[in-house]
Amino acid sequence: MENYLLYINGQFRESSDGKTFDAVNPANEEVFAKISQATVEDTKLAIDSARKAFDSGVWSELAREERSRIMKQIVDRINENAKKLTELEVMDSGSTIRKAGEDIFLSAKSLHHFSKMAMINLDEEIEGLSKPGVSKNLIRREPIGVCALITPWNFPLKMAIWKLGPALAAGCTVILKPAMETSVTANELARIIDGTDMPKGVVNIISGSGSIIGTELVTNPHVDKVAFTGSTEVGKIIMQNAAGNLKKITLECGGKSANIVLDDADLDMSVDGAIYAGFYHQGQCCEGGTRLLVHEKIYDDFINKLKNKLSKLKVGDPMDKANAAGPIISKSQFDTIMDYIRIGKEEGAEILYGGKRVGDKGYFIEPTVFINADNKMRIAQEEIFGPVITVIKFKDDKEAIEIANDSIYGLGGAVWSGNDERALNVANKLRTGTVWINEYHLMSDKAPFGGYKQSGIGREFGMDGLKEYTEAKHIHIDEIKDRAKKPWYNTVVPQD
Ligand code: NAP
Ligand code: MG
Repeated sequence: MENYLLYINGQFRESSDGKTFDAVNPANEEVFAKISQATVEDTKLAIDSARKAFDSGVWSELAREERSRIMKQIVDRINENAKKLTELEVMDSGSTIRKAGEDIFLSAKSLHHFSKMAMINLDEEIEGLSKPGVSKNLIRREPIGVCALITPWNFPLKMAIWKLGPALAAGCTVILKPAMETSVTANELARIIDGTDMPKGVVNIISGSGSIIGTELVTNPHVDKVAFTGSTEVGKIIMQNAAGNLKKITLECGGKSANIVLDDADLDMSVDGAIYAGFYHQGQCCEGGTRLLVHEKIYDDFINKLKNKLSKLKVGDPMDKANAAGPIISKSQFDTIMDYIRIGKEEGAEILYGGKRVGDKGYFIEPTVFINADNKMRIAQEEIFGPVITVIKFKDDKEAIEIANDSIYGLGGAVWSGNDERALNVANKLRTGTVWINEYHLMSDKAPFGGYKQSGIGREFGMDGLKEYTEAKHIHIDEIKDRAKKPWYNTVVPQD
């Protein structure tokens, strides 16, 4: 059995109290690795290491080319180890082998993109405040400093890279804390990074409890920024805890995104799209299309086709390529989902398909679709984070927009239509961070991703994403050399 240690200041070490926790495979409930569980004391060491590395300039002042080269070394090692990382991700997270393979491929691809972004100089020189020639003004984009990166369990390595990439590209140093449910690939990443030219202390990776070491990372005054992906509930706690030293925060939180099918949509494609939007990774996607809004004119045909298609969707061993869905991440998440299925029935919604456990080992649930639902129901308002979608009928585009926006969240969503202009009109009115037209889930390294409303604060990816890891500094170089010509000469300063 593999044993993973904490990675602090370029050294692998056991936790200060020697404790470990188990990596569990949710497909068979078996333990397959032991991971050192960091204490608050270990966390302080990791913060201290990142702080010293940042303040020394060993990374922030390194030539851009060097930073980029070292990041590319990590990309190459991820690619070299892709098969192993994919299999570990399947075992640890219950991702199907296809999804895990895609995750590892996309992690390397995104990091490669960020390694190129490390070459971008965001500094600019602008005209002075008054007349040209009076001053030079430099706008410098400096790394924000020591960043705590706190990630969830649904896309383990990918979420880590989404934060590590821009942080390193901007010149920051980091402490990465993966979710306990899925810490294995982050620990593999520590081994990968240790084999590169990355200076010691720039990347520290520690696993352990969010409420204990996560709280230390968020409250510790030597951390400059927290980048978090997880639930809205924990996002709010982080916002409060970060207030102590007014830490910068970016929060990527929950969602209940509307997947809108207009009456002129390609029916077969939108049915397939609804399955992809709602059931990719067993519905454990923050921006998944969990509220399926269907135009009343096509409603009956749509749900018949949906039911028929779902009866062919195979749930089972995630290592088997024939299966489109694996297990739910954990027993507690499994129980939460089954609870919501009960709540949906009690609220008066009807199950079109699914609703039951699959097998008796591992945490498998059938893809589940509720119909005869309305947007006020808990199953339409609350994030279930499992394979459950709620179908709601609408009569026109205006009503679809109203229903879509009637949510505390605003992360993703889609419009399916044969008319791009009509779809764009709907998309423009949705209060959400990403809208796909005739597509779902696709992200671009170049486009910002993040939430409106209670789905988050800040953006990942694109220039916006990179800037989240920087502070803007204005340097004004005054060119007026004669003090009597300074604009303030006749104001508060006493004359000779
Ligand atoms: P979570 O319970 O909020 O946990 C996320 C991370 O925060 C974990 O590493 C967790 O540690 C840590 N944490 C927990 N309490 C903390 C605290 N008080 N202080 C600091 N850190 C703390 O979320 P999850 O259950 O792992 O993930 C599911 C949620 O993530 C969903 O709501 C989903 O929508 C959201 N999500 C959002 C995005 C996005 O981009 N917007 C992407 C993926 C997921 P431990 O669990 O290890 O103790
Ligand atoms: Mg696990």
